[in-house]
Amino acid sequence: LPVAAVEALQPGEVAALLPRPDGADHKYTRGVVGIRAGSNTYPGAALLCVAGASAGVAGMIRFVGSDAVADRVRTVHPEVVGPGRVQAWVVGPGADDGAAGTLREALADGVPVVVDADALAAVDGPLGVPAVLTPHAGELAAMLGVERAQVEQRSLHHARLAAARFDAVVLLKGRHTLVARPGGDVRVTTTGVPWLATAGAGDVLAGLIGSLLATGLSPWDAASVGSWVHGAAATRASAGGPIVAGDVAHALRGILREIH
Ligand code: AMP
Ligand code: MG
Repeated sequence: LPVAAVEALQPGEVAALLPRPDGADHKYTRGVVGIRAGSNTYPGAALLCVAGASAGVAGMIRFVGSDAVADRVRTVHPEVVGPGRVQAWVVGPGADDGAAGTLREALADGVPVVVDADALAAVDGPLGVPAVLTPHAGELAAMLGVERAQVEQRSLHHARLAAARFDAVVLLKGRHTLVARPGGDVRVTTTGVPWLATAGAGDVLAGLIGSLLATGLSPWDAASVGSWVHGAAATRASAGGPIVAGDVAHALRGILREIH
């Protein structure tokens, strides 16, 4: 693998990368993000993924899923609309055994994708669209056919290896989140706290990154900015104490407001 830079985004860089609407914009030009998440087994993942996308960076959120899950999403998030054109898809959180089919449907649109959770198991090579893959160490180990401990011991190496193999931005979640792109560059995110290791936190992150992708950010910038903001929101929400994933989602807008 090539020797390439490892760096941390600085707050000023995050602010410069955040999309900002101008007077000529309307909701469609601001970006429409599509969410394919949740299942009858894991309906909560759909709600949390939409909550992450609801930080407000995109102009519209579309949700595609079973009627039962879509009803629950709309009850909690009345802004969310149904199927139609999108500029980016988020696929996988809580998708259960429907993940592979859902990924195929999203890829058919040819727009950038965030692939998370159950859908990662269906990735066996380059996807043919700009992509952000968001595994934790166990998911990345399964994708690469190695042991989880190997990924944990040499996280930088494995994140870069996966970025090259899948020709995608690979965001390896953990204490220090690594965002690797093909070519070997890595951005490391250290804004989070250990309290962020809680169920559903990754679903929020996937939705947030998808909304950034929909605004036109590159997979590399969307993943690293999303990870930075997600970690900062967790730290803010926690204030040294326990949090749940919904708290992180609620704190996103406050962080965005401050760094804009
Ligand atoms: P997931 O594994 O999909 O539930 O996502 C877990 C989230 O928690 C990711 O954003 C991780 O980066 C974060 N996380 C997990 N463990 C830690 C840790 N020890 N310190 C900080 N963040 C963590
Ligand atoms: Mg997850």
